[in-house]
Amino acid sequence: MPGCSHWRLRGGRAGPNHGAFMRAASSRLLLLLALITGAAVLFVLLIAADRYFAAPGAGRAYVLRIELPRAGGRLGLPPVEGPLDASRPLVVIDAGHGGHDPGAGAGQLKEKAVTLALAEALRDRLLAGGGVRVALTRATDRFLLLPERAAIARQLKADLFISIHADSSTNPQAWGATLYTLSDRGSSEEATRIAAAENRADTINGVALTGQSDSVSAILVDLSQRESAAQAEEFARLVLREGGGRIDFRERSIQSAAFIVLKSADVPSVLFEAGYLSNAGDAARLASPEGRAAFAEVTDRAIRVHFARRLAIPAAATRPSAVAPAPVATGAATGD
Ligand code: ZN
Repeated sequence: MPGCSHWRLRGGRAGPNHGAFMRAASSRLLLLLALITGAAVLFVLLIAADRYFAAPGAGRAYVLRIELPRAGGRLGLPPVEGPLDASRPLVVIDAGHGGHDPGAGAGQLKEKAVTLALAEALRDRLLAGGGVRVALTRATDRFLLLPERAAIARQLKADLFISIHADSSTNPQAWGATLYTLSDRGSSEEATRIAAAENRADTINGVALTGQSDSVSAILVDLSQRESAAQAEEFARLVLREGGGRIDFRERSIQSAAFIVLKSADVPSVLFEAGYLSNAGDAARLASPEGRAAFAEVTDRAIRVHFARRLAIPAAATRPSAVAPAPVATGAATGD
């Protein structure tokens, strides 16, 4: 075969012939094809794996889904309970935290559950007494941004806004309830610390869920609403007075700090830290029906005295009630 001899003449050391060349060429082609196919398969597998592991709830990775309100959208306002008469004063009760945000507390006792139970106890007490309309910012375990809570009170044209919380401290000896009003600066180191802790509800891993409008400087603008601030202080003083002997307060004076949730232009607002979940005594009290009842009774009395003064409405109920709050409120109103 001339061709073969030709190749033999010009060939390499191995002395290739035509058949060997063809075999070598086809094996290289096969190798190339195998490499291309392998790369393509690997590429497809990588894409599939990426999709699989990125899918919510699948694989090792996960996606944290948090329901946030639509920006600029109208709030779904909660139902208003109590008398149909819209001239009756309206109290908006805000159970702190909720949903993905458990608030303070360790172990089984979570702030978000404690605050909701206290809010419900107060609502029930107010409705049983009659004469006062009530709305809860949340009646379930759901998350609300701090400005939304105040916005609910504002949009419902509430006469009083009470945000209920429970604190936690690294010092297990720290105990007692505290009444807070809004201020641009904390009245004490502890007040400043608690405001910072409560304001963190609107962040996840330090990232703010809301914009700059919630800054302390914005709070200062709203502080120009002096009348609301004065009413809030008066109400907070009433809670301290009515709570004497029933609730152990950490401070016998009103504390103040820059709580975002209290930032409402025209609704008197207070924040009721009902106690320390990190303290065994406080935790037991807040988790008990008796503790909730004491909280509800004291706050109910303070609310009735407050409205009796502010709005000159009869503290008497519009319908008969087993708890008969009217004499209590009337009597208490004279003895400030
Ligand atoms: Zn809280």
